[in-house]
Formats: sequence, C-alpha cells, structure tokens
Amino acid sequence: MAETETETAPGAQLFIPPRADTLDALRVAAAGCRGCELHQDASQTVFGRGDESARVVLVGEQPGDMEDQKGLPFVGPAGRLLRQAVDDAGLDPGHIYLTNAVKHFRFELRGKRRIHQTPDRVHIVACRPWLVAEFAKLSPDVVVVLGATAAKALLGPAFRVTKQRGELLPWPDAAQYPEHFRRVPVDSAGTVADAPRASLLATIHPSAVLRADNRDVAYEGLVADLTVAARALAA
Ligand code: SF4
Repeated sequence: MAETETETAPGAQLFIPPRADTLDALRVAAAGCRGCELHQDASQTVFGRGDESARVVLVGEQPGDMEDQKGLPFVGPAGRLLRQAVDDAGLDPGHIYLTNAVKHFRFELRGKRRIHQTPDRVHIVACRPWLVAEFAKLSPDVVVVLGATAAKALLGPAFRVTKQRGELLPWPDAAQYPEHFRRVPVDSAGTVADAPRASLLATIHPSAVLRADNRDVAYEGLVADLTVAARALAA
C-alpha cells in the first residue's frame, strides 16, 4: 500500500467504454479500472447497485472492508444502519440506487486489520467519471449525498455538509460541473437529451452516526434529513 499521498492519477475516464449503454456495462468496465492506485490493494471494484429507475440515488464515500470483500456497496454496519434509516424515513428501500464517490476501498494496514482511510482529492477526481457515467443512466427525483467526500465529489470542495444538510437544492445546478449532468446520453449512437430535473440533499454518512458520541441523536438527524427527501417525492 502506498504510504504517501499520490498527487496525480490517470483517472477513470480512460476505462469507460464510449458506448456503454447500461449500468451493467459500466459495472463490467469498472471492474478493470486502473484510474488511480487504489485498485492495487483493494480486492475489487465496488460499483453502484439498485433500481436503475430509482427515484432516489444515495451517494456515499467509498466501500468499506466488508463491501470490498463482497463487491457490493453498503453491506457493512454503516449500510445496515442506512437501510434502517431509509425505512424509518419512509423511503421505499426497493426503489433506491446506492453508490459511492470512490469505487475502491482505501485503507491502511495495522497488523492484520485494514483501517479505513478517507480518500484524497486525487482519488475523488480520478473516480468521478464513473459517478457522472452512472448518473447518465439514472433519472432520480432526489440525489442524497452522504457525507463530506460525496459532497466534494458532486458539489465541490467548498460545500459544507454541516451547514446545508437537510436542505433541498436544485440538481444539477448545485453540482460543481453542472454541464456534466445537464445533457445525458440516451443511446449508443451518441444522442443526448436534457437530464430530468432532480433535487439534491446532503446529510451525514451513516458511519458518522456509528462513530457519534450520542448515536441516537445522530441517527435521528439522519432520519430527519432523509424524511425531507421522502416528502419531496410525495409532493
Ligand atoms: S478508485 Fe475509482 S478511479 Fe481509482 S482505480 Fe478504483 S474505480 Fe478506478
């Protein structure tokens, strides 16, 4: 595992097939991504999963230890907590899509334990093309950004989750590069159309709830934010 922060990375763009028509095609291609050094130590790429026609898309930080082993996002303790919060907020868990800003697990070894390391900006930037490609295949009504890393990936480094959490923002106008999300491909011939209108809502990552001194209060805050998304769907 690299000890020092990598300054540059080739980025995922090189690995995205020009005519990947479906999320499955993207998922297959992402398995071979070498867009940054994180693939070297992680077990596998962990791509998004869920309903392609989901009205709610949730974006987290990166896969954790269990996700890395299973190849699926949000299957560890934070994922379990998130599913409970989704349920408690009144969102339909069968109609959501879950993904991460960074698709490989970043960690450091302490003995035999793999300890989570927050992705650096270089990893967020390198992996961002996968997120943009996923959104080109999705048409959510609400995008929920979970925590600071996902917020940086989509909204830029200046966005502060603590200041604007639970607030419905216009999407893609709120995105750092809104042009990436305004026109989306609709077929493999390269035809594009206006992206469907969607709102964006930022909240804390479920792992922050697990780490909180007062877990109950933190959990209630997460549920309250997700309830804003649920109400937006019902409006
Ligand atoms: S973290 Fe993203 S950019 Fe880096 S190798 Fe994995 S999929 Fe590619």
